[in-house]
Amino acid sequence: MEDWVLKLPKVDLHLHLDGCVKPETWLALAAEQGYDSPAQDADSLLPYMQVDESCASLPDYLSKFAFVLPLLQTREALARVAREAVEQAASHNCLYIEVRFAPLLHTKRGLSADDAIGAVVAGLQQGERRTGAVARAIAVCMRHHSEEANLPVVEAALRHYGRGLVAVDLAGDEGAFPAVGFRGLFARAREAGLPVTIHAGEAAGPDSIREAVAGLGAVRIGHGVRLREDQELLEWIRERRIPLELCPTSNIQTKAVASWSDFPLRDYYDRGLVVTVNTDNPTVSGTNMTRECRELAERFGFTAAELADLMRQALDAAFVESPARVELRARLDARLAALGIEPAAARR
Ligand SMILES: [Zn+2]
Repeated sequence: MEDWVLKLPKVDLHLHLDGCVKPETWLALAAEQGYDSPAQDADSLLPYMQVDESCASLPDYLSKFAFVLPLLQTREALARVAREAVEQAASHNCLYIEVRFAPLLHTKRGLSADDAIGAVVAGLQQGERRTGAVARAIAVCMRHHSEEANLPVVEAALRHYGRGLVAVDLAGDEGAFPAVGFRGLFARAREAGLPVTIHAGEAAGPDSIREAVAGLGAVRIGHGVRLREDQELLEWIRERRIPLELCPTSNIQTKAVASWSDFPLRDYYDRGLVVTVNTDNPTVSGTNMTRECRELAERFGFTAAELADLMRQALDAAFVESPARVELRARLDARLAALGIEPAAARR
């Protein structure tokens, strides 16, 4: 059963739209938009879009996004990459994905935050129809934008909430712009019932995670790899059953974790934290959900039953609404049963 990892039904909760643009698509968009390309074919273009082993830091990693963003300023381009995000995920047997993006980074050529969300949701829905996978959007507020500048993102997200969009997020330079500066913004989201997930504990330490949950009301944490630096906080997160969206390949490339042997996912799982495994940026990181699962199997001895348990935890942590949630759980269990995989008993 060489390919059980590929066949395993999967859930990806942490996936950035601008991190999964295919090189072929970049070339097509550049041609359509009259944009000069530094390369003429997908293979030669890939180094502009993907980090390699020499990736030095988060800023090095982030430079890859600057390369794609100028082309993602129209409804058509946003809808296309959103549709392709679903298609790529479905090719790795993802049943459900949450695709996040920062609407304000797509307003350079006249789109509003509302327009950008509408285009991405439309693209995700096209992807759903083509593949049968289920996809929802998350709107990201940026740390380097002020609360005031980010308010239109939350307002637009509220208008789309329940119509393809399921949550808001905060991302960007975690060290330079602490979460405490965004309490008012996320209070606005929470008071209106919009769920919150926050990138925290990636480039900054445990205090950033504490503030994300206690100050901003995050009900999930993006990454959170550095949680182990504060055992008391770790216990608090465990008791509250706050899911962590870990992205192993990305976390190692950005040096959030020094090496694979130091990656805490196995430890967190064994200690009963709610952990999920995700891709973050398939193109930039050169990864996909099959590869992430394979790394866990090969490096940390995750069995099929344990990986199935991780996928169940991910679906439980998903922001998807019912009845789609109930239907997805049934589909996940049916696919696992067909593969003869019985999820490991939850260790909690
Ligand atoms: Zn992320």
